[in-house]
Amino acid sequence: MKPPWTASVLTILPEIFPGPLGASLIGKALVQGTWALNVIDIRDFAQDKHRSVDDTPAGGGPGMVMRADVIGSALDATKKKAPDARLIYLSPRGAPLTQEKVHELSNGPGVILLCGRFEGLDQRVLEAHEVEEISIGDFVLAGGEVAACALIEACVRLLPDVLGDATSLVSESFEQGLLEYPHYTRPREWEGHKIPDILLSGDHKKIAEWRRAQSEKTTRERRPDLWQKQEKTS
Ligand code: SAH
Repeated sequence: MKPPWTASVLTILPEIFPGPLGASLIGKALVQGTWALNVIDIRDFAQDKHRSVDDTPAGGGPGMVMRADVIGSALDATKKKAPDARLIYLSPRGAPLTQEKVHELSNGPGVILLCGRFEGLDQRVLEAHEVEEISIGDFVLAGGEVAACALIEACVRLLPDVLGDATSLVSESFEQGLLEYPHYTRPREWEGHKIPDILLSGDHKKIAEWRRAQSEKTTRERRPDLWQKQEKTS
C-alpha cells in the first residue's frame, strides 16, 4: 500500500503538535491514517549535555542562531526516512505560500518542515541541503511551528476524502484566482437584516451569476493584486 501523505516536522517544541492538527476533520484523517505526522525533536541531535541547539551570531548582534551541525544531523536522519519529501524551511524570508503551492505540495508524497526559533537557522545548512523557504505572510512569528501547522492544514484538507464535500473546494477563495462570494444561512431575517432575494429565488443560473459578480467585486476591492492577474489571464 502507498504510504500516506506525511509531514515530518523538525522543532525544539514537539509538545506543540498535533495541536490544532488533532482537531475536527484534519484530526480524524490523522487517526484514520489518511495522512501521517512525524514530529522530530531537534534537541535529540544536540551534541552536548545541555542539549543546546543555538549559539551567538557570527559577526555579533542580538539573539541566537540555530546551529548548522545540529540541524544538519536532524535533517540527515529525517531524510533517510522520507527521501522524497519536499524540504521546506518556514521563514519570513521565503516565497509567500499560495493555494497553488499548497496544491503542489498536497499532490506530492509529503513535506519535511524545519521550524526555526530565535533569529533563525545558520545559512550554511539551508544552502547545503537546498532547502526551499516558504513564508506564511509579511509578519514575524516567534517560531516556525504555527506556520508549519498552517501549511500542513492547508495541504491535508485537499487530500482525497478529508473534507466531507469535495465540491466545496472548487468555488473557494483563490481556486479561480478570485476571493469567494459571501455566504448566508437561516434565519431568513436576522435583526432586520435580510438574505439577498436572489439566493431565495431558486433560479440557479441567476444565483451562479450573482455569486460570480460578488466574487469579482470583492476581489477588485480587496485584492487589486489578484484582480490584476485575473484580468491578464482572461
Ligand atoms: N530573524 C528572522 C525572524 C526570526 S522569527 C527575520 O528577521 O527574518 C523565528 C522563526 O519563526 C523563523 O526562523 C521562522 O522559522 C519562523 N517564522 C517567523 N515568521 C514567519 C513567517 N512569516 N512565515 C513562516 N515562518 C516564520
